[in-house]
Amino acid sequence: MARYIFAGNWKMNYTIREAKEYFEKFLQYIPQIDLKDRLIIIAPPFTALYYVSQMLQNTPLKLAAQNVHYAEKGAFTGEISPPMLRELRVEYAIIGHSERRHIFGEKDELISQRVAGAYKWGLIPILCLGETLPEREAGKTLEVVRNQLERGLEGIKDLDPAKVIIAYEPVWAIGTGQNATPEQAEEVHSFLRESLRKLFGERASAVPILYGGSVTPENVASLMAKANVDGVLVGGASLDPEKFFKIVSIEVLKESHKGCSLPDYSSLSKDILEIPQKYKRLVIVGASPKPDRPSYIVMEYLLREGFQVIPVNPRYPEILGQKTFPDLESIPSDFSPEVIIIFRKSSEVFPLVERALKLKPKVIWLQEGIENEEAKTLAESQGIKVVMNKCFKKVHQISKWNI
Ligand code: PEP
Repeated sequence: MARYIFAGNWKMNYTIREAKEYFEKFLQYIPQIDLKDRLIIIAPPFTALYYVSQMLQNTPLKLAAQNVHYAEKGAFTGEISPPMLRELRVEYAIIGHSERRHIFGEKDELISQRVAGAYKWGLIPILCLGETLPEREAGKTLEVVRNQLERGLEGIKDLDPAKVIIAYEPVWAIGTGQNATPEQAEEVHSFLRESLRKLFGERASAVPILYGGSVTPENVASLMAKANVDGVLVGGASLDPEKFFKIVSIEVLKESHKGCSLPDYSSLSKDILEIPQKYKRLVIVGASPKPDRPSYIVMEYLLREGFQVIPVNPRYPEILGQKTFPDLESIPSDFSPEVIIIFRKSSEVFPLVERALKLKPKVIWLQEGIENEEAKTLAESQGIKVVMNKCFKKVHQISKWNI
């Protein structure tokens, strides 16, 4: 899944004619948006889905429904089934929106059935959750969202993090013009991330968590700057093509980058640039939290491409918003990395490769300058490929870490 997600929820707005006018404007902006690291999803009302689906056919925009039933078909007057939506090339479904919960009385049990039904039929549920103002004031926010998360996902046993999205939408912030502060959002998002880990294991930390509630072109950058905010779900402001364009095209600058220039990906080698086409889960041993370090640039590039990266570093609890593990032994057994990249000194390579082999990756990547034939022979005797290659085009750039 893309690194950042921007979803627009039109709610009960726009006829087909109005949708046409909207896209006549919005589609003109698309060439100006750098879509390499982001995904744009639009959720029109059911009546406009067929038309919008036709309209978006040759565009990078994705389509969501604003709700979905769990059954394939049957006597459920007023409901729409997952296969009906799939037929329209709808890929996502908003479920458990606060307006469904609070105006139409949808309870966790029904929401959980809808989520499981969508998931089963290959629609990606965007599970919305969030506390009311009295709940926040009573200090119950985390308890409420944990409950909604657990209940909402209880019908999913083997969670694929690429097939579920969570949207934290504090009820008091929806449609009120009063957004949560970036700090309030981050507190809940990091709690949700940890809760997902506890529920489904390490892989679940890659589930995207969006923030929703009075997002505007003015506040989106500060919300997205938080490490655990992977995107936004926008209501009111998504109805205006110009405002929505401003929101989806912001430059995302995570706080960890403040004061640093953006990394120059053009210096990465072809082999690293091609990793995302081949693998999904990576471990970086010797990951650094310093933005000028090669391991940081490589990690950031892989994260931006939407990959799951576990950094190994005994000194820092978190790098680029990802929980760090002190050594290879402590990586959860369910993560099963496909590639392990080792950014360490030559003298440490052999024992590290021995430990890396236990995780049974497909590839172990040793950096130029730390080639170790003995380690290569050992890994290859176990059928594991060893790449001794550069991350960067220019050799001088690796001298910083190869000490
Ligand atoms: C929403 O409907 O999900 C929402 C966040 O609305 P708004 O952006 O208008 O607060």
